[in-house]
Amino acid sequence: MKSKESKKDSSRSGPNEGGLIACHECDFLHSIQPVPAGGKALCIRCGAFLYKYIPNSLDRALALNLAAFMLLIMANVFPFISMKLSGRVEVNVLASGALELYRLGMGEVGLVVFLTGILFPFLSITGMLYILLPMKLGYRPWRTAPVYRMVKTLTPWSMLAVLMLGILIAIVKLRDLATIIPGISLYAFVVLMVVATAANANLDAFVIWPPREPETAGNGSGATAMERGLVNCHTCALLVHETNLDDHGHGVCPRCGSALHRRKTNSIARTWALIATAVILYIPANVYPVMTVIQFGRGEPNTIISGVIHLIEGGMWVLGMIIFIASFVVPILKLIALTFLLIMIQKKSSWRFRDRTFLFRVTEAVGAWSMVDIYVVAILAGLVKLGALSTIRPGIGAAFFGAVVITTIFAAHSFDPRLIWDNIERSK
Ligand SMILES: [Zn+2]
Ligand SMILES: [Zn+2]
Repeated sequence: MKSKESKKDSSRSGPNEGGLIACHECDFLHSIQPVPAGGKALCIRCGAFLYKYIPNSLDRALALNLAAFMLLIMANVFPFISMKLSGRVEVNVLASGALELYRLGMGEVGLVVFLTGILFPFLSITGMLYILLPMKLGYRPWRTAPVYRMVKTLTPWSMLAVLMLGILIAIVKLRDLATIIPGISLYAFVVLMVVATAANANLDAFVIWPPREPETAGNGSGATAMERGLVNCHTCALLVHETNLDDHGHGVCPRCGSALHRRKTNSIARTWALIATAVILYIPANVYPVMTVIQFGRGEPNTIISGVIHLIEGGMWVLGMIIFIASFVVPILKLIALTFLLIMIQKKSSWRFRDRTFLFRVTEAVGAWSMVDIYVVAILAGLVKLGALSTIRPGIGAAFFGAVVITTIFAAHSFDPRLIWDNIERSK
């Protein structure tokens, strides 16, 4: 067990010593050991994050989620950005972009922007409050498990930081076009992004789901959960004995009611199918224009790449590179990485287990950033509708591109990194 110390003051142990935990990325069992305050434990085999110890985690997470909740309300009710051009002023709220996309017949893209930028962050934050507030008062709220599961499911789809980058890019792009006046909501949004991140970082999951010793621990750590006949619950990290599973290997966690399975069901076939879908969608996403900037009645449609070229020609190197990497390079690399990981598993490869797990971790983490161009299009479409002077119209390419990003995120979700390590046992 490796413990990383990030605070100098204490080596106090966590309150949760004892019990077993299985690594979510390689299934290796670890006995839970004291971790210094603010420190975290990583998997000895693959390096994945296992657990952390945050003193007063309940108080901190509750306070930060309360603050995030208020900031989220502020970010949505006050003017977000105003644009001034030749005496005309456009005032916009955060949801304007999504609404404008819907009005222009691109409701799917508008919906994605609304869900990932507004609704999912809202549900995640209120869900955490629903759990943490009663727990602070000393009791467990009704249906803690499904709410917690919802929060966990929505977390990768709440893209506040990516939306923030999209907003910044949109503002820089519009600088030459008009005067930009930031509103109260924009400031609230910036603080929200920081506070929401801190709220996540300060939640010690053991507070909600204390670790337990499984019914039949055997010799504890030193093997995988599967080898010890245990199944890891992905929601509450409880280790359930496989006798609780039915003939098809499915079951329900006795503590939180989540679905149990030794490995993700049909992981390889589902991931292949999603990769193939993404590859097909990637073509129209790059062939069709993502937006058209119409200035003084003139304008030509831009694809992702021609948009990047325009930015670079216009001297906006940094922006051009950000969009190029996020929209063009990242999706391709993600698809190549997942293809590589799948082929290696199917070949029962024993090559660099740890590095392949790391590759998966990176692939999963960077996926959301590809959404940035979609946000830029939504914000620009929402902001720039100054009639004859200037309009920005989203193109059908944006819908295909959004579908690519979503499909690749689902592909990474359906991939089970424990399959990489399952070969290590066979080759022993
Ligand atoms: Zn591991
Ligand atoms: Zn559970």
